[in-house]
Amino acid sequence: MPELPEVETVVRDLARLVTGATITSANVFRERNLATPDAPSFTDAVRGRRILGTRRRAKWIIVELSGGILLLVHLRMTGQLLVLPATVERDPYIRLSLTLDDGRELRFRDVRAFGRVALVAQRSDGEAASNLDPHSPPLLADHGVEPLAAAFTADALRALIAHRGTRIKSLLLDQRCIVGIGNIYADEALWRAKIHPLTPANRLRPAQLDALHLAIVGVLSEAVAARGSSINDYTAPDGDGEMQERLDVYQRTGEPCHRCGAAIQRSVVGGRGTHVCRTCQRAPRGAGRAAASRAVRGPRWSERVTPETVGATRSERAAARRRSARQGEAA
Ligand SMILES: [Zn+2]
Repeated sequence: MPELPEVETVVRDLARLVTGATITSANVFRERNLATPDAPSFTDAVRGRRILGTRRRAKWIIVELSGGILLLVHLRMTGQLLVLPATVERDPYIRLSLTLDDGRELRFRDVRAFGRVALVAQRSDGEAASNLDPHSPPLLADHGVEPLAAAFTADALRALIAHRGTRIKSLLLDQRCIVGIGNIYADEALWRAKIHPLTPANRLRPAQLDALHLAIVGVLSEAVAARGSSINDYTAPDGDGEMQERLDVYQRTGEPCHRCGAAIQRSVVGGRGTHVCRTCQRAPRGAGRAAASRAVRGPRWSERVTPETVGATRSERAAARRRSARQGEAA
């Protein structure tokens, strides 16, 4: 699932590719991806609007349109935004498309169709409203702090989590607390800070909290600079990211820790695959053995894509080729 760096990359690519263009028409191919309004109102409301710019809030992509209207897109599991000449054939996974006045289309492609698109008004306080009425309540009010904003200091992190008895990894994934961190960057930040994912937040020492703050900001900034991690379906309008080549623990089960050489291990924390170096990241008392005994590794659905799969993107096929090469080495 795309996390903050991937969504930020899409937002920046889109800003460069579509700012200034005018939407001449819209097609909704699958209405269930549209959270609000209904399809006829959507196509009606976007027609003739100019794209003024793009920004990000949490994992939402916000496209600012003329007349105080915002187009919101959440990629969820497999969503992609593509900007292509309108003459390029649409594949069956295009759920929605906007035709631009310069002969291109902005297409929302989503294989598993969990992604969400919404068209809402901008409120007078700058927040996205819940629908096309600018007086409706803010849509994203329950979202937490932005980890790359200046306000996210070590003290701010301490104030957010130091009193909580929740396992630190679960807290990092809680979007009401800090936004944009998913499974990849939670595992990476905890490895950098040498903190075991099962450690209760209120048992972290001040030095560990400082290290965690540095690790979160560091790994997210580096990932934005690298255009995100192209794992599974993520690609940006201007192409794949390369952070996946620089990850220290995520999906490196069995490979040596970049710090100490011990094998990276995978277990399950709160239903999520979790990657740790058990030498660098000491388990809190009583947690280690239970976590290890539940270690599992099932295939993700996208691992079933082969280089020949029809409808796969270039990056999906490339990932499939890398996978089959790896399996060849292992055999
Ligand atoms: Zn290590």
